[in-house]
Amino acid sequence: MKLTDSLRQVKGVGEKTENLFQKLGVYTVGDILLHFPRAYEDYPDFCDNPEKEVGNPVAFVGRLKTPAFMRKGKRMDVTTATAFCGDCAISCVWFRMPYLAKQLLVGEPIVFYGVLQREGHCLKMEQPACMTVEKYQSLQKSFQPVYPLTKGLNNAAVRKVLHSVFDEIGTQEDHLLPMDVCMREHFPSYMRSLYMLHFPNDFEELTVGRKRLVYQEFFYYILHGCMQEAKEGSIPNPWKFSDTHLVDDVMKKLPFQLTKGQMDTLRQIQKDLRGPWVTQRLIQGDVGSGKTIVAFLAMLDVIAAGYQAAIMAPTEVLARQHFTSFQKMCDDFHISYPVVCLTGSMSAKERREAYACIEDYPQAFIVGTHALIQDKVNYHKLALVITDEQHRFGVKQREQFAGKGEQPHMLVMSATPIPRTLSMILYNNMQISAIKDMPANRLPIKTCVIKENLRKKAYEMIAEQVREGHQAYIICPLVEASDKTEAENVTDYVEKLRAAFGGTITVGMLHGKMPANQKNQIMDAFETGEISVLVSTTVVEVGVNIPNATVMMIENANRFGLAQLHQLRGRVGRGKWQSYCILMDQGKGDKITERLEVMNKSNDGFYIAAEDLRLRGPGDFFGIRQSGELNFRIADIIGDADILKQASTDVHTFLEDEQNLSNYPEIKEHMARFEEENRIVL
Ligand code: ADP
Ligand code: MG
Repeated sequence: MKLTDSLRQVKGVGEKTENLFQKLGVYTVGDILLHFPRAYEDYPDFCDNPEKEVGNPVAFVGRLKTPAFMRKGKRMDVTTATAFCGDCAISCVWFRMPYLAKQLLVGEPIVFYGVLQREGHCLKMEQPACMTVEKYQSLQKSFQPVYPLTKGLNNAAVRKVLHSVFDEIGTQEDHLLPMDVCMREHFPSYMRSLYMLHFPNDFEELTVGRKRLVYQEFFYYILHGCMQEAKEGSIPNPWKFSDTHLVDDVMKKLPFQLTKGQMDTLRQIQKDLRGPWVTQRLIQGDVGSGKTIVAFLAMLDVIAAGYQAAIMAPTEVLARQHFTSFQKMCDDFHISYPVVCLTGSMSAKERREAYACIEDYPQAFIVGTHALIQDKVNYHKLALVITDEQHRFGVKQREQFAGKGEQPHMLVMSATPIPRTLSMILYNNMQISAIKDMPANRLPIKTCVIKENLRKKAYEMIAEQVREGHQAYIICPLVEASDKTEAENVTDYVEKLRAAFGGTITVGMLHGKMPANQKNQIMDAFETGEISVLVSTTVVEVGVNIPNATVMMIENANRFGLAQLHQLRGRVGRGKWQSYCILMDQGKGDKITERLEVMNKSNDGFYIAAEDLRLRGPGDFFGIRQSGELNFRIADIIGDADILKQASTDVHTFLEDEQNLSNYPEIKEHMARFEEENRIVL
């Protein structure tokens, strides 16, 4: 059996199961091996004082003072019992488990495991699992994987297919990593590591298996970068530049002064453009630090010198926004060069016009989405290419884009907070500039974490802001109602909100499943103020800039990663007005609230990323995946920083000996997959 075989080749997988797996993006044997658990069944230690744990899953050793009672209902049997843990009484109830009444013996120690709830003055558990102390303790030692599922496919089924795959393939040695590395690190084989991740016997095994996979993922990523660099080498700068007076003039006309970070970065770029080599530079600046204006001025510098410059955004919404804001700046500052927009949602005619413009104007601002790298576009002395929020793009796309022009300088703008030492490894062939300061006119955003009981207050506050002429975003995790997850969805929420506001406030809706031009219309209406409150999914997370919006309310905030919340919050506080971020905590338990409170304490992306990691704790590998970042499948740039550094050192050692690549055909082959699939291969 090969990793590329379809899942149907696995014993016991029929058409129905195959279809279900495909819904999860699992098509091949290789895919299912990389379909990692999202968690392992977690059996907490016994708790002595359950009162303190309301809302959390808890296990306690309790005793019954009176026998359990079973009532035969019309629709189902209901069993009730009161368990005492010390002086604390917990009422337990079970449905459709009539046999329990006989099993739960008065006076015996029994482990109750479930989510503790409070009802009035009483503590309550619904359907707790009950077992002997010994049984529970043995479960605590084992690890049962919990997978991302789809309707019709349960954990047991996924486990079964995985077991069949491992039975067939085995866990023999491989040569996917240099031998000396495997020996030094005592790495298990690739297949054995995957097995350990799916079915670890203990925490130790999980850690060992995962470490190899993390290492391998980094190893290939870095190796690919290095080989790419070696292939391209240093390219002499073919572009000629002279003075910079147009840029300096425009800078004087801006309604604000550039911060020191913006200024330094711009000067650095201008120096690059005039330097001996074609450069690739990463610009890191926290959300709201003002990267767009730096991009605009750099592009202006290039265009004034007689060339084209392009900026590529990850979403239609963002591309359109750059387009309008660039046009406005050109009008305001009497810049006569055209701004051309090219996105996938434009009609064929509009697109042809855009292609024609790009061919006809040797000096132009070109703004768009990945449509910019499609074949039909013929650039004309494209000297600078900027990708905004680049982590959304594959490695290869960036190269293709570069290949379009003659030899454009590349700028990559990112809001992901990665320490410099790590950026240097991950962006190995790039120069790095950091914009560390924020524009001076900003008031810190006021953040609060609230529960359901304050919802009315929150709406009142939004209404108040709207009366003052401002706008608000409300983010919901889902597009429409789902029977699998209990979370707010945009579709129903809009109706609820309209009812709550009694028709006094215009509410709009935005989500990723809408057709592109409808999205554009909504964003335009929000931009012009026609819509006051925009209910949206996280599509607004990257880049959107509506300075008049002063409230960001996030429903089910507990379901988002902190880095993502930070990005979302960054959509407000972009003007001179006081802005607010309201995090609705619909989660149960204190751990979540503690996590959200981090948002309250800081507005610094680096600090938030570090705290997120600390609070996730060592066992929580598969907690909430962060958005953005480089999309590694298993590795976590910050949490696995040490492995990243080690892998980087090893790759460089590996490449020192030219023989190595031919000595390891498997490594070469695996690398080829990387290129083919245009993504990080594990
Ligand atoms: P990001 O770095 O998140 O992409 P933007 O470039 O969208 O941030 O800028 C956010 C807002 O800040 C914009 O409305 C922009 O006009 C404004 N801005 C940028 N630089 C400054 C500055 N130096 N002083 C005041 N406002 C600024
Ligand atoms: Mg931006």
